[in-house]
Amino acid sequence: MAENIEKKVDLIVIGAGLAGMAATIFAVENGLTTIQVGSSVGEMLFASGALDLLGIHPVEQQKEWLDPWAGVSTLSRDCPKHPYALLGLESIRRAMDQFVDFLENAGLSYRGWPEGNALLPTCAGTIKITYRVPQTMWPGVTGFKQKLPALIVDFQGMKDFSARQMVETLGSRWPGLRSRRLDFTRQVPGVDRDNALMAEALNSQEVRTDLAGAIRPLLQGAELVGIPAVLGLRESEAFAADLEGQLGVPVFEIPTMPPSVPGIRLKEAMEQALRSRGANLVAGGRAVSVNTERRCCVGVVVQQGAYQETLEAEGIVLATGRFLGGGLDASRTVIRETLLDLQVHQPERREAWHRPHFLDPRGHPVNRAGLEVDELFRPVGSDGRSAFENLFAVGSVLAHQDWMRMKCGAGLAISTAYGAVQSFIHRRG
Ligand SMILES: Cc1cc2nc3c(=O)[nH]c(=O)nc-3n(C[C@H](O)[C@H](O)[C@H](O)COP(=O)(O)OP(=O)(O)OC[C@H]3O[C@@H](n4cnc5c(N)ncnc54)[C@H](O)[C@@H]3O)c2cc1C
Repeated sequence: MAENIEKKVDLIVIGAGLAGMAATIFAVENGLTTIQVGSSVGEMLFASGALDLLGIHPVEQQKEWLDPWAGVSTLSRDCPKHPYALLGLESIRRAMDQFVDFLENAGLSYRGWPEGNALLPTCAGTIKITYRVPQTMWPGVTGFKQKLPALIVDFQGMKDFSARQMVETLGSRWPGLRSRRLDFTRQVPGVDRDNALMAEALNSQEVRTDLAGAIRPLLQGAELVGIPAVLGLRESEAFAADLEGQLGVPVFEIPTMPPSVPGIRLKEAMEQALRSRGANLVAGGRAVSVNTERRCCVGVVVQQGAYQETLEAEGIVLATGRFLGGGLDASRTVIRETLLDLQVHQPERREAWHRPHFLDPRGHPVNRAGLEVDELFRPVGSDGRSAFENLFAVGSVLAHQDWMRMKCGAGLAISTAYGAVQSFIHRRG
């Protein structure tokens, strides 16, 4: 573990997914000394890079909300236990604005309509409803809205991305789309089969110039070019501008299947900006236990490699995710919270976890299992009291939400992180 890390801080954040990152950002922006402990295996590296706020509610009706704020109001009324209902519109709005501002300062610009959701073309040829999209994807949103004639390209050998499929599926909603397949580059063996390697290769001006040279003769009247989201691991906006300059038309990135380069960019930009603001990130560290005294958490035992150490803080934010992140674990009969064995809201019997049909549009009761929290985002026990005075829970580990079907993943992670950090600050006085 880093020698220079402070061993006693205001806040320890456990988890390095979007919720843990957001909690660390809000803590640092509020001047709190903060340690974040987390490994990087989480849902974020699978995420498209777009930030959803609320797209669908009620899920059984698949009702889409172009105005996410009206959707959040309705959801809060219909499902008063959804974490959004604990926050209120103003807090959610502040959280999203502050988070997007932080990303802008970290060198990653996000775009969206002032009040509305955006409709983002995906590689499957579907249209994703989302709130804020990386700058490099924005021309795809406006191009789809205006139905500009566009060329979609993909690369020979690339897995899970077919420009042709995208055009065939989306063509009826976006006439004037064409597809072409290109050889990516012959310079690095295997590069055309790995999103991250392609992104690295595009750091080279020579490779970008080759790519522009291959696309130019195919334009044939296209006013927009869509390419898989591999435009560099870091300077994607500059690289998109470079291609646009060479082609004379806007270029947009299309989210790929995992592993997602925009997800990697997001994580790296946040980590770098947090380090430069003095946050202690114990990357690759794992919280193995939490020391408690009566109703307070007093220390977190952190393992990094063979090394173990106890870190102390006034407050702890649990942002450990669900089953994929490892915050929840399901045995044959019960779902448990993995670190403190906190009470998990879940169906009473295993048979009630799932509905009979796997693809039931309502989802499954197990999707809404998780930690119930009080109005300060502290996990509660069976008596409804907070389990610990200074323990807060945020993100997808929370109960009464189904981020995947509601299209509210990032909004939930960011706004609950904001709520928990505000609660910590107010409680401390
Ligand atoms: C395929 C896919 C696509 C997605 N697309 C989108 C999208 O387009 N838009 C959107 O808004 N959202 C999207 N999401 C959802 C979004 O990524 C999640 O909602 C969000 O990542 C949840 O964040 P989280 O931090 O709560 O959980 P996670 O991302 O799971 O993070 C939890 C973290 O905690 C760590 N952890 C667990 N236990 C410990 C411990 N004991 N000690 C230390 N660390 C620990 C885990 O390793 C992990 O890094 C997508 C998710 C997936 C899987």
